[in-house]
Amino acid sequence: MRIDIITIFPGMFAPVLNESIVKRAQSKNKVKIYVHDLRKFTQDKHNKVDDRPFGGGSGMVLSAQPIFDAVAKIKSQVKKNAKVVLMCPQGKTFNQAMAKKLSREKHLIFICGHYEGIDERVRNLIVDEEISIGDYVLTGGELPAMVVVDAIVRLIPGVLGDKNSLNFESFEGNLLEYPQYTRPANFRGNVVPEVLLCGDHKKIASWRKAEALKRTKIRRPDLLTVKKTKETK
Ligand code: SAM
Repeated sequence: MRIDIITIFPGMFAPVLNESIVKRAQSKNKVKIYVHDLRKFTQDKHNKVDDRPFGGGSGMVLSAQPIFDAVAKIKSQVKKNAKVVLMCPQGKTFNQAMAKKLSREKHLIFICGHYEGIDERVRNLIVDEEISIGDYVLTGGELPAMVVVDAIVRLIPGVLGDKNSLNFESFEGNLLEYPQYTRPANFRGNVVPEVLLCGDHKKIASWRKAEALKRTKIRRPDLLTVKKTKETK
């Protein structure tokens, strides 16, 4: 997979992209991630990427031209069809099913907005999908893009050392994960459920399934009513 990120704050990405699983995915050549400084695409002699909103109002709006040119340049470098994703609080709320679907794409281009947002013509003419990471407004699309990239990259086959860890984690099969424990078996008088120490894998699996269901009923009953679609599988 190839991922391109267009931003006015490219420096924000290095600490996240160069650590942990996302770093490992890149060194295993499972994903190539390129961060582009939007300012390099402006035709404005003062490197301006924004302007005042028509009709008045507070704040600035990212102009269409540099974003159009950045996307066109990236697309011209790659033969495969790219999906252009705008990070936007007005988009579809991101979830695990969307992460799974996006992890099957060959090429993703993320546009990070800032200030009051972006010129509407970007949304209308070059964006394929708009994604929000929740019903709150952040300063820019950089943190949302990092969230989405992290969620996608760990799902690319071969990225996680043990692919089984994906099969049982939260949201798989519309369930939250069962409780997890590690050594010591007795921590300050709080002991691990006995079944986990018995060594009987069948018993452990059925305990875990029951606990996952119990936990989901209490915390996220809405998940149990979600129909299994191609996306959630
Ligand atoms: N004026 C916009 C509105 O009311 O919808 C909000 C603009 S916000 C301050 C600036 C940028 O941050 C957005 O263009 C978007 O890229 C990003 N952003 C903010 N909150 C977000 C969220 N919840 N999910 C995804 N992106 C978000």
